[in-house]
Amino acid sequence: MKLLIRNALLIYPEREFQEKRDIYIENGIIKEIGDNLHINNIDEVIDGEGKIIVPSMTDMHTHLREPGFEWKEDLLSGSMSAVAGGFTSIACMPNTSPPLDQRSFIEYIYKRTKEINLVNIYPIGTITKGREGKELSEMGDMYLAGAKGFSDDGSCVMNSEILRCALEYSKIFNVPIIEHCEDINLTLEGSINWGKTATLLGLKGMPWTAEASIVARDIFLAQLTQGKLHIAHVSCWQSIEMIRWAKKYGIKVSCEVTPHHLILTEDYVKETNYDANTKVNPPLRTKEDQESLWKALEEDIIDVIVSDHAPHHQDDKLKEYDLAEFGISGLETLVPLVITYGYFHRKLSLPKLLKKISYNPSKILNIPYIPLEKGNIANLTIIDLKKEKIVNPLEFFSKGKNTPFKGWNLKGWPILTIVNGKIVFREGKILK
Ligand SMILES: [Zn+2]
Repeated sequence: MKLLIRNALLIYPEREFQEKRDIYIENGIIKEIGDNLHINNIDEVIDGEGKIIVPSMTDMHTHLREPGFEWKEDLLSGSMSAVAGGFTSIACMPNTSPPLDQRSFIEYIYKRTKEINLVNIYPIGTITKGREGKELSEMGDMYLAGAKGFSDDGSCVMNSEILRCALEYSKIFNVPIIEHCEDINLTLEGSINWGKTATLLGLKGMPWTAEASIVARDIFLAQLTQGKLHIAHVSCWQSIEMIRWAKKYGIKVSCEVTPHHLILTEDYVKETNYDANTKVNPPLRTKEDQESLWKALEEDIIDVIVSDHAPHHQDDKLKEYDLAEFGISGLETLVPLVITYGYFHRKLSLPKLLKKISYNPSKILNIPYIPLEKGNIANLTIIDLKKEKIVNPLEFFSKGKNTPFKGWNLKGWPILTIVNGKIVFREGKILK
């Protein structure tokens, strides 16, 4: 297959650089990058006008629900959702049933990934056995099987001594401990941000303190152990200020944010009249928090943008607000949300924004990052900046149709995804 893309904007997130060039791909290898390329016997030419090409897009926080909750998602539907969302790699969280807390489960994810052969899936192992927070899991064994990080995501490791040990132990393998920061004693039965809106709506709130106090504790543990700490889905300005402080003092901490925390606030719960698709953990916070997240993104205090893809069956969402499950099906809307709100509305540069969904996550997880360079295997996504589309969850490849962005008009959709040299997604279709 000889594919020539003329005059596209090539993005080099690793150098925060962009340039307009032709790019020629032959049998999955980038053969040439240049101006006015002359190639014979081309199979296909794509006009790159208004399109950008991004290498190795990675979503490092997804929930694929297999094993145990396959009616919500499985590794196949999750893979299809990932490539439709423009991702060449994803990491999957271990809060399955049973949880990914031993070697054989890590091996299972790799085996299925190979069989499905669509997207690179990198499993995250649990920090504690059974995600119970009581005893460290066999991290070394899981690392050898290919676990790229450890997390009890969905739950916080409440025991400080266990988290200290995990940070200490993980240093041997140089992998991150990914923390879901939430003091559960402060959030019990909560379903929305703690404050005026919660009171008005008659819902029990989850205070920012629950997140920020654990962020602070974990940062000090990272300082003590010099382990690698990655803070999942930050949502409030107090957490941001703690992370800013930690980075200033050279503590090994990185963090991520989701598009829904960047774009929505607690007011949206009211506006949508308690739509359970606005119920996420951590909860949507205030305007002030939201502004601090954008600022931190621009200042590189926030390293990564993730979907926190959490597909649920509609039975889990069609409930009273406080009884519904937490989470959003996010893989297929992350890119257009980031382009629409980060690039078009906030005017952040494309390389800067896209670095947070390509280069940075791959460096944190120590997984392959393949830049746009002559001789490299093509592992890239074409995004059409001019393509506008209304979000329709019924078109999602994910089994989870739970999105608060239903009906939103977004601009900048992925139109073609090449994983390890193979075109796997094109104009709304999965290619096997
Ligand atoms: Zn979480």
